[in-house]
Amino acid sequence: LEVTGAPIFSEGNKWKGIVLVFHDITNMKKLEQMRKDFVANVSHELKTPVTSIRGFSETLLDGAMKDEAMLEQFLQIILKESGRLQSLILDLLELSKVEREDFHLAVESINIQQLLDDLLPIVEHQVKEKNISMHSHIQGETIVEGDSSRLKQVFINLITNAVHYTGENGLIDLTFEDYHDHVIISIQDNGVGIPEEEIPRIFERFYRVDKARSRNSGGTGLGLAIVKHIIEAHHGSIQVESDVDVGTIFHVKLFKKFTKD
Ligand code: ADP
Repeated sequence: LEVTGAPIFSEGNKWKGIVLVFHDITNMKKLEQMRKDFVANVSHELKTPVTSIRGFSETLLDGAMKDEAMLEQFLQIILKESGRLQSLILDLLELSKVEREDFHLAVESINIQQLLDDLLPIVEHQVKEKNISMHSHIQGETIVEGDSSRLKQVFINLITNAVHYTGENGLIDLTFEDYHDHVIISIQDNGVGIPEEEIPRIFERFYRVDKARSRNSGGTGLGLAIVKHIIEAHHGSIQVESDVDVGTIFHVKLFKKFTKD
């Protein structure tokens, strides 16, 4: 609580009383803390790959380059770490774009089945690589109004996560429910699942249940924060159900008619 005060005087300059203003700054403090945490997280995430890139290039220049096997191995690491930096920077730019108040959506009529059919080839190689069976049960002519490239981004992110957090030979199912004024698109996997107490936090920036697993699969920890912003810009919502070692299901609710704020 922040308190500011000022005396009040009547016309004859006689002291009349005092005004006290009580200002609840809990929210401001919270926002300030979140901002600080974010900067600390970004710095940390950037520092790790940079340190590794520098370390391996220095070792190469110090003579390790002469060993061909080492040269190849270190260059692979440098390539991987610079890829990580690149994804992180791209996701940060994306996040700052979708978090802006004036974030613009190019709204058009979208056939949901078409949208999902279009993005399946984009995720196909990851799905095949892990020998995962993915089935889409989404069909029909249902139309929703929204920004198709942003919504594609949402579903690519959710499907990519389903692939990352599911073991070899896993299953991914895409299903669809059509209601009067909205649709629900669900992405279900039979992967590692999310502990109940962590579920409310997974949409936070940089929050990961298992840091090492996320990094190894090329995750930045920003994907779901971006997804949530895009869905909310469409006035929709996203929900999660999950059981550890059983699997996870994300439900995305989108309205058929887009309403401006
Ligand atoms: P990341 O880049 O780490 O995948 P996200 O923001 O996309 O970041 O997801 C945040 C965290 O939520 C992940 O690190 C993971 O712990 C958890 N998560 C997301 N999707 C799934 C899923 N389908 N199954 C299990 N855990 C998931």
